[in-house]
Amino acid sequence: MAIFYTNMVILMEIYEGKAKKMIPLDDGKVIMEFKDDATAFNGEKKAQFKGKGWLNAKISAILFKILEEKGIKTHFIGIAGDNKLIVEKLQMYPVEVVVRNVVAGSLKKRLPLEEGTELPEPIVELYYKNDALGDPMINHHHAKVLGVSESELREIEGIALKVNEILREYFTQKGIILVDFKLEFGKNERGEIILGDEISPDTCRFWDVETKESLDKDVFRFDKGELINAYEELYKRLTA
Ligand code: 5GP
Repeated sequence: MAIFYTNMVILMEIYEGKAKKMIPLDDGKVIMEFKDDATAFNGEKKAQFKGKGWLNAKISAILFKILEEKGIKTHFIGIAGDNKLIVEKLQMYPVEVVVRNVVAGSLKKRLPLEEGTELPEPIVELYYKNDALGDPMINHHHAKVLGVSESELREIEGIALKVNEILREYFTQKGIILVDFKLEFGKNERGEIILGDEISPDTCRFWDVETKESLDKDVFRFDKGELINAYEELYKRLTA
């Protein structure tokens, strides 16, 4: 369902990140605008791809809807135009939660396993969201220092694993392996823990089940081809 905000009043505390802009409205909701900018390796590599913002907004909307239908509480409210979603305002935790099903990316630096090895069970990792420190990996003790309690961490990790179960099954049906992904969580005004941010080829690794070809930001990170072609192929499969 598309929601179009015609008389929206935009408040002044606009937050602009590397790939998105968060624009608070006066009704407690937020516009999440997806940019065409792509960055990798903590901002060292940069480029722009026309249409990337549109694709990430649409793909995130599809995935948030699927998760909502399966009982996951997300910040997604609706689509607000080409590259914009309307979302619930959250107080974000300073923690990124990564779930891995298959060995790829930075996991190769920690375990003596070859890329593509399926893990016996999903691995959950926590990172401190801090560009200046290069988003370091942290454990529960570090997270507690950052103000996230043990019970919040347990709930967040439980939701992340549930999201993994739901999305893994969904992507399998589309001929895609969900290799790994990053989630971010926040608290709403009622104190509930809610899945926020985006779920897109910018934040997940997707491989074609037959060819193991990347349909995600690794195409840009490692110069594997045209980013837009990979994102369009992913979108086509999700909407087929
Ligand atoms: P890795 O730790 O292997 O680099 O990343 C694991 C997964 O989390 C990948 O799917 C990657 O896209 C995602 N991820 C981890 N950190 C970030 C981040 O800071 N930004 C984005 N966009 N994705 C991230």
